[in-house]
Amino acid sequence: MVLEQEQLKDDKLETLRHSAAHVMAEAVQSIFPDAKFGIGPAIENGFYYDFDLPRSLTPDDLPLIEAKMAEIIASNLPFIREEVTKEEARRLFASQPYKLELIDEIPDEKVSLYRQGSFVDLCRGPHVSSTGEIKAFKLIGTAGAYWRGDERRPMLQRIYGVAFDTQEALAEHLRRLDEAAKRDHRKLGRELDLFSIHEEAGPGLVHWHPKGAVIRRLIEDFWKDEHIKRGYDIVYTPHIAKLDLWRTSGHWEFYRDYLYSPMEVEGQEYIIKPMNCLGHILIYKTKLRSYRELPIRYAELGTVYRYERSGVLHGLSRVRGFTQDDAHIFCRFDQLEDEVAAVLDLARFMVDTFGFTHYQVLLSTRPEKYAGSIEVWEKATEILRRALDRQGLTYNVDPGEGVFYGPKIDIKFEDAQGRAWQGPTIQVDFNLPQRFDVTYVGQDGQEHQVAMIHRTVLGSMERFLASLIEHYGGVFPVWLAPIQAVVIPVADRHVDYAYQVDGELKSTGVRVVIDDRSETVNHKIREAQLDKIPYMLVVGDKEVANSTISVRLRSGEQLPPQSLDSFKETITMAIKTKTKGLK
Ligand SMILES: [Zn+2]
Ligand SMILES: [Zn+2]
Repeated sequence: MVLEQEQLKDDKLETLRHSAAHVMAEAVQSIFPDAKFGIGPAIENGFYYDFDLPRSLTPDDLPLIEAKMAEIIASNLPFIREEVTKEEARRLFASQPYKLELIDEIPDEKVSLYRQGSFVDLCRGPHVSSTGEIKAFKLIGTAGAYWRGDERRPMLQRIYGVAFDTQEALAEHLRRLDEAAKRDHRKLGRELDLFSIHEEAGPGLVHWHPKGAVIRRLIEDFWKDEHIKRGYDIVYTPHIAKLDLWRTSGHWEFYRDYLYSPMEVEGQEYIIKPMNCLGHILIYKTKLRSYRELPIRYAELGTVYRYERSGVLHGLSRVRGFTQDDAHIFCRFDQLEDEVAAVLDLARFMVDTFGFTHYQVLLSTRPEKYAGSIEVWEKATEILRRALDRQGLTYNVDPGEGVFYGPKIDIKFEDAQGRAWQGPTIQVDFNLPQRFDVTYVGQDGQEHQVAMIHRTVLGSMERFLASLIEHYGGVFPVWLAPIQAVVIPVADRHVDYAYQVDGELKSTGVRVVIDDRSETVNHKIREAQLDKIPYMLVVGDKEVANSTISVRLRSGEQLPPQSLDSFKETITMAIKTKTKGLK
């Protein structure tokens, strides 16, 4: 019952949002009488409309359009539905090429129109009864959008708006948008000097700066250590391989659109790898494997390249080259459940360590087109269910959403803003072991096909860093902070002592720097604060005389003066506890 009410509320909001799109279109038409109209659907939290306009919109246009919308809403114009023949519709929209194209695609004889005031639109509806019902809206931005998402068609101008049923809900949403903008990893990545992407090098290709590289190295070291503890072997495989290998695997056939064109080397075609799986299979197959050796778990921080349209690339979260924290497990079928349960345990441990406490788990089952037999699919899906139950994970089933080669588990974790990030994935594969004849010798002396698992626990280094930046808002926990402490001498006469403090901390393994520029202490503290450095160690006359340091936290909190030994204990503890005790 509660669910039904929620659904009703969602439908009502969707109708409201779509109606707001019509109002926006009327406002745009009154400002640009020659505007050509694309489409204007409701989307999550709001709506958009695509326009073909005589000039580019600027941010200054939005308040004007908003003001016009407010007028239309204040006039409380009714939305009136009409049905006309396609012929009449074509006459009505004679100067609207995009609408004419849409009319041609409608299979019915009659089409429906919605009219409010002087504006009429081709639309299936539904709408609110009159414009006055739109109580709370705001236009939030513009973007270029190809007509029908097709790069060969004209580029239209899209205006985005948000709309809610109350002013309070709108204000809360805008506050969240503002917070999200502050935490945007592209903005913080630049401000904190973590990474860059260069038009000269190509879109979607990430350059990790020293500070970003520190974070990545820490994640990688932690990841490797944990994998070794849990029985994985670390391997490395080449970045390019012969195209024939990808023909055998089926990638060339099924994923062609995501692969880069082959390059020729001594008359042979090679491609840059889109996945790490095949290298691991080749390593496995260098020997005859006995059932006693299994499971074999190969882990690699493997960099792969996949083609993504430039329009969908986004900072670190959608890129063309990325390093997966990949692993492949080769095991017997009877070991599958234990292995999947162990991967789930590892995935949770990793995600928890980085401070993500909420996740959604999805089990994707057999799609329409699939490799292998139904019985094996059913069995494997059941094994994934049992492993999830064993780990006490609640999950939703996504029927038919598995990849063609086997069922999978996806875990999405939520950041501090409640936004979901694609995290761990675990896939069972019936296809590759068969195509590459990956086997082991059983107790019976016969060769059997292995069960193969593909899995990542963080996803990729790039996307995971994006999620970390936004989750922490750039305020990384001490163990991940690129610079953990800055020593700030008050005057030149304190510089020697500052170097002493710096040296002792460095020998403890702390990432510390000295700021001995001739700036004021306040200025240096402000900069350290902007860099979100966890500890600012100020040393002046008193500190030199007493062999102490004054510790200031990035939260602004001032700790009492303390000996260097006591501070070493504090910072060592903070590093060790990782996300717990985060300040
Ligand atoms: Zn409509
Ligand atoms: Zn794989």
